[in-house]
Amino acid sequence: MDLHPWGVGFTLPPREHGSMRPTHIIIGAGQAGGWAAVAMRQAGFAGRILLIGEEPWRPYERPPLSKAMLTAEPTPEVQYFHPAAKYTEQDIELLLGVPVAELDPVAHRVRLADGRALDYDRVLLTTGGRARRLAIPGGEHALTLRTLEDALAIRARLAAARRVVCIGAGVIGLEIAASARTRGAEVTVLETLAGAMGRAVSPEGARFVERLHRDAGVDVRFAVAVERIEAAHRIETDGGRFVVQCRDGEAFPADLVIAGIGMQRNLALAEQAGLAIEGGIVVDALGRTSASDVFAAGDVAAFFHPLFGRHLRLESWRHAQNHGIAVGKAMCGDTAPYDDVPWFWTDQLGVNLQVAGLPAEAARTIVRVNDPPKAFIAVHLAADDSVIGVTAANAPREIRAGQALIKSGKPVDVARLADASVPLQQLIPR
Ligand SMILES: Cc1cc2nc3c(=O)[nH]c(=O)nc-3n(C[C@H](O)[C@H](O)[C@H](O)COP(=O)(O)OP(=O)(O)OC[C@H]3O[C@@H](n4cnc5c(N)ncnc54)[C@H](O)[C@@H]3O)c2cc1C
Repeated sequence: MDLHPWGVGFTLPPREHGSMRPTHIIIGAGQAGGWAAVAMRQAGFAGRILLIGEEPWRPYERPPLSKAMLTAEPTPEVQYFHPAAKYTEQDIELLLGVPVAELDPVAHRVRLADGRALDYDRVLLTTGGRARRLAIPGGEHALTLRTLEDALAIRARLAAARRVVCIGAGVIGLEIAASARTRGAEVTVLETLAGAMGRAVSPEGARFVERLHRDAGVDVRFAVAVERIEAAHRIETDGGRFVVQCRDGEAFPADLVIAGIGMQRNLALAEQAGLAIEGGIVVDALGRTSASDVFAAGDVAAFFHPLFGRHLRLESWRHAQNHGIAVGKAMCGDTAPYDDVPWFWTDQLGVNLQVAGLPAEAARTIVRVNDPPKAFIAVHLAADDSVIGVTAANAPREIRAGQALIKSGKPVDVARLADASVPLQQLIPR
């Protein structure tokens, strides 16, 4: 496997005090941070760029971690966003395997966990999130997934697991459930809420996904409260290494328990620095936080979206990339507000589901195609009949048209929308 730890033992040149070369520090060497660094150079920034990350790897793709990294043989290579040489060519200094412990926006200084202090002219927080842990008795028995190491640990355990219990029917929980099922395990999904994928989809989209899993033989249970996880007394009679005990008395034996109960944003630095926080670090459409010269991007940010007129928090691949790029450029003087239409995809049980916009906020939904498990296309409307979201399975073209409809902000002809023979493209206002 192509794992190249960088920066462990890396010696950092001292900041050039008194030099005219300005310094941008990026805290968090994930997707948003990596793209921001490259974008700063593309925007013509000639100063020093330092990309600091607590993981030992240069920025890599997380989406395969819940998909191919759990199912493919042999173990897939890690997919990095940029080859190592790119950072050298672009004169981007990588400092990996060391967390930033403190941010002082007044002194314009960060302090690393190993005690080193670095001064900056502008700093970008791209600290993303970590997997939420299960806070119940025995919660430590449940594995979680955010990092490459997490994925490799789950992969190793999946190899021998006959029975898998996934706690949480969010996107990651269901992707892990789908991967475990693909590997032939008996899979049970236990979810507190009444439907799948929470607010990432509309109720219609949730039912499509639920059907997909049930048709593939996944035992999906909603409105269940998991109370504790116990180590089994006798694996042979208890049916697995663990027993997942629910409040209603039902118990599920498992060889492997995984908690996919969402992520927690890494806000400690922002809190300690006194930045405005509303579930994420509050930034405007240029990525500026409440402190001067401090910016934030990606999963960790609650960013103002001009199209929706309010702050959004997203956890998606394209947002991490494009927000990182936009804010990286804004730090170098670009004044274009970031207004990407929210979009994510998920791959489960052979189906590629894509979601654009904010379907959970729809006043009503027009389902154009519903043929599970193969096809699903739904358009979500706001109260004024403008398109607020589109959900489509195995239909990327519909999603592209949907994004244009969302961006237009104009009401659509609902009768034509309801007629599935009219291509969505034809409804885009000229
Ligand atoms: C398993 C998985 C599957 C996914 N699949 C999909 C998918 O199919 N489709 C989709 O649209 N999206 C998917 N996503 C979401 C997407 O990968 C994320 O939205 C994206 O990775 C967010 O990037 P980020 O850079 O904002 O944050 P992160 O990727 O979380 O990166 C933040 C980095 O900052 C580091 N950091 C944190 N605190 C500090 C500190 N104090 N000092 C230094 N470094 C620090 C962290 O260690 C981390 O490396 C998936 C995510 C996961 C976890």
